[in-house]
Amino acid sequence: MGDRTILHCDCNGFYASVECLYHPEYRDVPMAVCGDPQSRRGIILAKNELAKQYGVQTAETIWQARKKCPNLVLAAAHHDLYARFSEKVNAIYRRYTDLVEPFSIDESWLDVTGSRMLFGDGRQIADELRKVVRQETGLTISVGVSFNKVFAKMGSDYKKPDATTVISRENYKSLLFPMPVDAMLYVGKKTQELLNRRGIRTIGELAECSPVQLQKWLGKQGMELYRYVNGLDTAPVISEQQQAKSISNELTFSRNLIGYEEIHMGIAALADSVAARLRRQHLKCCTVQVLIKNPELQSISRQCTLEVPTYLAKELAQAAMKLVKDSWGSQSPVRMLSLGAANLIGADETVEQLSLFSSGEQLDRNKEERLETAMDRIRRRYGKGAILSAGLLKNDIGIDMGRRGKTDSDKESES
Ligand SMILES: [Mg+2]
Repeated sequence: MGDRTILHCDCNGFYASVECLYHPEYRDVPMAVCGDPQSRRGIILAKNELAKQYGVQTAETIWQARKKCPNLVLAAAHHDLYARFSEKVNAIYRRYTDLVEPFSIDESWLDVTGSRMLFGDGRQIADELRKVVRQETGLTISVGVSFNKVFAKMGSDYKKPDATTVISRENYKSLLFPMPVDAMLYVGKKTQELLNRRGIRTIGELAECSPVQLQKWLGKQGMELYRYVNGLDTAPVISEQQQAKSISNELTFSRNLIGYEEIHMGIAALADSVAARLRRQHLKCCTVQVLIKNPELQSISRQCTLEVPTYLAKELAQAAMKLVKDSWGSQSPVRMLSLGAANLIGADETVEQLSLFSSGEQLDRNKEERLETAMDRIRRRYGKGAILSAGLLKNDIGIDMGRRGKTDSDKESES
């Protein structure tokens, strides 16, 4: 199979650019969008190019920004407007492929492998997208084109605004390897410091490290980095529609979860409710998906195929936790989790596969099935909160198992 062609499209200075469309006078002055312009402690959410030249940075306070740029013009944020523009831009992307995966409000991955016959190669599609988005919305985007998601994202960062960067198997070393190591996706400040202390300053030096060495220094994240930096990322682009062809639940937590133990609490609660819904509809799933969002609402999604289809909470939670541990640092905060069961089949279609288990495993599995279906009956009679694991009984993360039906923090979706 040949390489995939993946685009990462990033709207340039998104909030500030949208504000400039409605206030052309903002174009010629240093300007920033912030939460509350009246408060000195308000946070800078975005800035235009002129403000950037003064050194104004996202996430600093208005007070800090004003010290660098006394004439900074402040605009209040209009989040509903940004959501509308985001949808507009993604609708344009979907004309070129149905595989569009939003990463945040202003960034999306597109898998255009199947679109090349119609629209040309990756660079041509990227250039056309830049033109069409500019014409139809007035916004500019930077596009990275590559054979995997990580390099595509790094391509969209490589040159902005309004640029296309192709990162190919031929040029990725010459383009990326001279860059400082913190330019590598997922290398944050702490990782950068750790690597610097060990004499690794460039992406190229990182690529020369052995996987064993990186794992020793950085744990699982080290293995991931080894794969990413050497062009071995194979994560698929998963469209929202694909994500919707599933039974899924999501939880937005009342505070950030830190550490696998806390994440497991969230995963267990989600697995419980998704599995109960699968059983209610007499379905099993072949694929488990997780979506994780950090406090900045940037998200990653991962999925895996199960050896044997299931409707058991225990097996869903196991698979989901493995996805989390393989792709999310144990100390990275989690704001929202979604667990999806996809690739659904009738619960009875799976009998012939049972031989995959040893007889002992099969007995355990039958026992688990009886246990979980018994729990369904009890829940039907006494309500959702009737059975809670000890860990969930007292939690301060906003998992409310007692209430019936949907709550704001417990969204169900299926199609
Ligand atoms: Mg952007």
